[in-house]
Amino acid sequence: MPLERRVLVAGGAGFLGSYVCERLIEEGAQVLCLDDFSTGSPANVAHLRRSARFTLIQHDVTVPFSADVDEIYNLASPASPPHYQRDPVKTAKTNLVGTLNLLELATERKAKILQASTSEVYGDPEIHPQTEGYWGHVNPIGPRSCYDEGKRCAETLSVDYSRQYGARIRIARIFNTYGPRMRPDDGRVVSGFVRQALADEDITVFGDGSQTRSFCYVDDLIDGITRLMNLPDDRVGPVNLGNPEEVTIGVLAKTIVRLTQSSSRLVYRALPQDDPRRRCPDIGRARRILGWEPRVRLHDGLERTIEAFSRGIPSPSNSAQSFDEPSGPTAYALCSAVLRQNEKLA
Ligand code: NAD
Ligand code: UDP
Repeated sequence: MPLERRVLVAGGAGFLGSYVCERLIEEGAQVLCLDDFSTGSPANVAHLRRSARFTLIQHDVTVPFSADVDEIYNLASPASPPHYQRDPVKTAKTNLVGTLNLLELATERKAKILQASTSEVYGDPEIHPQTEGYWGHVNPIGPRSCYDEGKRCAETLSVDYSRQYGARIRIARIFNTYGPRMRPDDGRVVSGFVRQALADEDITVFGDGSQTRSFCYVDDLIDGITRLMNLPDDRVGPVNLGNPEEVTIGVLAKTIVRLTQSSSRLVYRALPQDDPRRRCPDIGRARRILGWEPRVRLHDGLERTIEAFSRGIPSPSNSAQSFDEPSGPTAYALCSAVLRQNEKLA
């Protein structure tokens, strides 16, 4: 086995994926970043192009492919409600067929695979805070189902590949995560409120703002998922990763207005169907098995995010033109199998 870890990051040009790629490059790994740029952008990983250990390939994970890798992070899926509801069939397909393809690859290569799951598997929860043992309360036919059920089935596939074929899986149930490099137009609450506040526009609070979320700063989350990947135990079960500092959306809006010294007013709009009323992770398992807990308080994380947004973050272009050609001999060795496979399929 080569000394350098070869890691595939599917969805690596997205918000979280770009930080995972960054962390892996810092750690000396070879990184193959696959992305179809549907919600992410080459701009998010442009700073990694300097490294000969980084390769970016435009690829849709619903199309089978092969690559010589030791670890796989599966982050490929739209994540914001407006994005995943734009083409719900594609969202479900990405989470089902895309995950299946990556599990096949992981099994064939005996590679570890980390599935980016979500707190949405708990739906509109009836227990609080949510523990990994809770089976959830999900509408199977609502507007959020393509994502929620897609992610639930991706967990099922992961666990069944582990039981049936010995796949080396890890499942991270990620709770709302925010930070610099989010798309200002992605429709998620932190990016949306910060953008509106900085522009002195109305802040659109859905419902009466009494629903809660628990927001994790991106650096903490990346620390958690890399620890989970590095855990020697292949049978650890799903792990909640999030910050248990729970806040109402109304308070979040007021905090962002205050921190930005904005003149924005809060305006109230209809609560979207099936919007979860409360959400807060029980992170006891993560504390126990990963020795992990978030360090960045909401107030501090928001300040960092506001600072980055006000400096102007790269605006995402969905252009496929600006991504890297594979560079360097190692990069070629890593991705040539992918390219060959794609040629065969074309
Ligand atoms: P994001 O939209 O910024 O990133 C997703 C990336 O996947 C994008 O770069 C997108 O272009 C890519 N992608 C989508 N469909 C693809 C396909 N078929 N083939 C290849 N690439 C594809 O979102 P994010 O916030 O970075 O989320 C990353 C992952 O983490 C997602 O799987 C999401 O479900 C999960 N997650 C995120 C959060 C959060 O709060 N950020 C919470 C829970 C789970
Ligand atoms: N939300 C809001 N205004 C917005 C966007 C979202 O009030 O402009 C609310 C949304 O209804 C939900 C919460 O903020 O209650 C978190 O929404 P987001 O889409 O960020 O994440 P998710 O609902 O998937 O947790």
